[in-house]
Amino acid sequence: MTSSVDAARNIHSKLLRPTFHICKSCSRTLSVAEFIERHCENCKRDVEVIATKEPA
Ligand SMILES: [Zn+2]
Repeated sequence: MTSSVDAARNIHSKLLRPTFHICKSCSRTLSVAEFIERHCENCKRDVEVIATKEPA
């Protein structure tokens, strides 16, 4: 039974391409906590978040 192993590999390869969340004000890559709270520690205020597949 190798099909389950192949399926696990497919899932893993998708996890290797995470989504980055970037502050719209300062273009800094946000941490998970900052993204959840929509709060940039650099700007010290609530900000708009941009989701991208590329790091800032
Ligand atoms: Zn910011």
